[in-house]
Amino acid sequence: MAIFNISNYKRRATRKKKALAAFMRKLGKSTRKGLQKIALETDKEVWKEVACLDCGNCCKQMTPTFSNKDIKRISAHFEMTPKEFHKKWLKKDSSKDIVNKQTPCQFLGKDLKCSIYAIRPQDCADFPHFTRSNFKYQVQEKTYINNIGYCPATLLFVEKLEAKLADLI
Ligand code: SF4
Ligand code: SF4
Repeated sequence: MAIFNISNYKRRATRKKKALAAFMRKLGKSTRKGLQKIALETDKEVWKEVACLDCGNCCKQMTPTFSNKDIKRISAHFEMTPKEFHKKWLKKDSSKDIVNKQTPCQFLGKDLKCSIYAIRPQDCADFPHFTRSNFKYQVQEKTYINNIGYCPATLLFVEKLEAKLADLI
């Protein structure tokens, strides 16, 4: 199995974005049955080819959204109050989501590992959202297409979906 080249994925994402975005718009409107199953199969294929642990790009360039439950759990780990934790690390963005003040994420280690992995935000645990039960909604919300420039696994996921479905939807 060929290993996906993480180093040049940004160029590849830029080159293919228009065509992939057109495909994803079509997929979002498709009434074809079994899309969720295809997404789950594609998820398994992607992780055989992408070395996620060598990348860390989501933690370097993006921010998770923190729920109140996340903040409570993580602040307790640092023996801080949720308010202190919020003040030190978090802010509200323009959509009123609670996000990191800084990128890379303050919890990303030099070894590209998450220093709070066991208690990380649910959004991080779910990322890149390939196995979400609302796959079609995620397509319609542009979750995947918006992430192809940040996440090589997402680029490969969308490319594989296109290869499987472009002529069938
Ligand atoms: S909390 Fe951990 S997994 Fe989430 S962005 Fe930060 S370093 Fe990455
Ligand atoms: S989820 Fe995507 S961006 Fe994050 S480390 Fe894995 S391949 Fe890289």
